[in-house]
Amino acid sequence: MDDATLRELDRKHVWHPYAPASPKALIHPVAAAEGVRLRLADGRELIDGMSSWWAVIHGHDHPRLTAAAHEQLDVMAHVMFGGLTHEPAVRLARRLAEMTGLQKVFLADSGSVAVEVAVKMAIQCTGRSRLLTVRGGYHGDTFGAMAVCDPVNGMHHLFAGALPEHVFADRPPGGYGLRPGATAEPEPADPAYLTHLDTLVARHAHELAAIIVEPVVQGAGGMRFYHPAYLRRLRELADRHGLLLIADEIATGFGRTGEMFGCDHAGVRPDIMCLGKALTGGYLTLAATLCTPEVAERVGVLMHGPTFMGNPLAAAVAGASLTLLEERPWREEVKGIESGLAEGLAAVAGAPGVREVRVLGAIGVVETERPVDVARVQDTVMEHGVWLRPFGHLIYTMPPYVTAPDDLAMITGAMAAAVATLDG
Ligand SMILES: *Cc1c(COP(=O)(O)O)cnc(C)c1O
Repeated sequence: MDDATLRELDRKHVWHPYAPASPKALIHPVAAAEGVRLRLADGRELIDGMSSWWAVIHGHDHPRLTAAAHEQLDVMAHVMFGGLTHEPAVRLARRLAEMTGLQKVFLADSGSVAVEVAVKMAIQCTGRSRLLTVRGGYHGDTFGAMAVCDPVNGMHHLFAGALPEHVFADRPPGGYGLRPGATAEPEPADPAYLTHLDTLVARHAHELAAIIVEPVVQGAGGMRFYHPAYLRRLRELADRHGLLLIADEIATGFGRTGEMFGCDHAGVRPDIMCLGKALTGGYLTLAATLCTPEVAERVGVLMHGPTFMGNPLAAAVAGASLTLLEERPWREEVKGIESGLAEGLAAVAGAPGVREVRVLGAIGVVETERPVDVARVQDTVMEHGVWLRPFGHLIYTMPPYVTAPDDLAMITGAMAAAVATLDG
């Protein structure tokens, strides 16, 4: 199909995320993807500075992952998981248990569903149904998950009336990670915020099942990095009041923040953990909800069971992706990207229209004073050979760990060019 026909039929029939049925914004057909590059149908090549929504950590079409998919496909693509099991799922579950210290693994089919399952576990475990979370969070697009997203900027205010009402603590203060161009020291934890958490948890403990947060990095809710001391305090409070701590590691898991899991910054182990996004190296949709044996015991029969749960193809690729992660020096790679981002973005800190530049692991964020003109920023970065998807006040990148220094410099260069188009 030629580029023009593709675009036309897409516009006529295909619904895209967070978009009207026939969006005004340009949608770009991709013909192929390899390594860190997307090749558009019109022949242009773009560096995937988003790792295709943070998932493609090893790059596109990685020979090892592709081979794992082919091999599994020749054996079986799918079988139901009710009453049946298979090696790819068993191996993956054992591996995730070893990595996290959480023994029980529920394989779900997307991140949002993993969050739904975590919430069900918490409710079934405690007999209580309210959750406590912090503002500025994002946990997915299904109803249970939406209810713990930021109630104001969480993209879901339209549904407010249809959601359960949970307890929201203030947004954790930022200040963790690197702030290129800023002379200020990293900010210590704010005692007032810790007290705020103490008070709020104590006030609501009697009705709460669990505390749910994204550890250290708040992703789609605003790309903010908060002090691990807040997470440690939430762990202490959960213990003190007999609540569960749910860590949504869907964005932070598998090295993105410079540690294997976001919780590792705080030295904290949650009772329930959600994984997704990079789990299959971005190949197939798969997520997981893990918990301790104690939680599993108290849950009893977990009332959830998606049709495609434990999909062998996805589980096999996830296994290969974890092996690859184990073998590659991801820590050094992510450190290298962190320094490259800090260096490359230092120039835009203090530029007109820029509120803050921050970097943590393989995450580079330019927060702007005013909402960004998405089309204009996207045009600019594409002219510079880079694919990014800015939103709200954010122009950010989460590149694949295999991004070479030259390619990383192209990404930060494109971001700088986009900043130059901002109205001061
Ligand atoms: C992306 C994301 C989700 C939702 O995952 P989907 O696979 O899009 O359903 C949940 N929590 C966090 C922290 C995420 O980043």
